[in-house]
Amino acid sequence: MAVDPLIELQGVNKYFGELHVLQDIDLTVAKGEVVVVIGPSGSGKSTLCRTINRLETVQSGTIRLDGRPLPDEGRALAGLRAEVGMVFQSFNLFAHKTVLQNVSLAQIKVRGRKREDADRRSRELLDRVGLAAQAPKYPAQLSGGQQQRVAIARALAMDPKALLFDEPTSALDPEMINEVLEVMRQLARDGMTMVVVTHEMGFARSAANRVVFMSDGRIVEDRAPEEFFTNPRSDRAKDFLSKIL
Ligand code: ADP
Ligand code: MG
Repeated sequence: MAVDPLIELQGVNKYFGELHVLQDIDLTVAKGEVVVVIGPSGSGKSTLCRTINRLETVQSGTIRLDGRPLPDEGRALAGLRAEVGMVFQSFNLFAHKTVLQNVSLAQIKVRGRKREDADRRSRELLDRVGLAAQAPKYPAQLSGGQQQRVAIARALAMDPKALLFDEPTSALDPEMINEVLEVMRQLARDGMTMVVVTHEMGFARSAANRVVFMSDGRIVEDRAPEEFFTNPRSDRAKDFLSKIL
């Protein structure tokens, strides 16, 4: 694996005070790969995502993106954030801006694009997530599934090298989950490098190249989905799967 690594974590340790929240994490995500991260609540999945995006600092270990160590601060850090998009459980759209403005804003402010170029790109991306007709609306006029697709379009608008998803469908009503997962499946087919924290095991089976199972701050298993689901090795993974499947 890892012929052409995009995200590399080596020996990463992170503490929140006494809590050793990430323990000796080694993880490599190759270009174009889709890695699904699963595990019990509190096992460190969100912290792992936030660490990759430098929303959290670590006490030891190295994290590289496309061969370069992550910057600690300043302009380089803003650049990094633009290169690794993040989609959260809560969509975090600007309520007083239209859908189009939501997707264009960071393109103008961070990427320095002209408004008309940003808007053109935004319309392309809104079309790609099936929301071309919603461009002039405000977030509150959209369903949760539509808002999350806007959030995905907004992340894509920065032309990221990779996308991190932290439970992107957990806040959605059941009937809206699939429209978001379908957009994510399409991104995967188009070759986007993705790290996805999710409880949607159907997505993990159908879209993931690897499943990473975390427990108590450690990566306990890191395997192909079929192997993981049919033959989990660790008792912790067996126990977890018996509760959710
Ligand atoms: P998961 O996403 O797998 O549910 P998290 O990464 O959110 O897990 O949290 C892992 C552990 O770290 C939990 O015990 C959580 O309470 C703790 N934690 C998360 N964020 C913070 C923080 N900012 N300060 C202190 N503890 C935190
Ligand atoms: Mg979490």
